[in-house]
Amino acid sequence: MPLCVYLCYTPGCQVKVERWMPTAEEGAAEKIPCPRCGVTLACAWTGSQVKTPDLRDAGAPATGGVGERRPGS
Ligand SMILES: [Zn+2]
Repeated sequence: MPLCVYLCYTPGCQVKVERWMPTAEEGAAEKIPCPRCGVTLACAWTGSQVKTPDLRDAGAPATGGVGERRPGS
């Protein structure tokens, strides 16, 4: 989910609005009204979300690691 940043270029306003968008295309097409001066803001920047570490990898115990016992030896 990309984070879209909308900037107001009105002098003295310069509000920055951040919105999480389902897709970058949707964020670019979205027109956000400035909460302060009402000017329609165009998407100034779209950042793709950095892939977070997989929780399954972090939470699952490592196989073959500490604590493993071989029966019979
Ligand atoms: Zn504004």
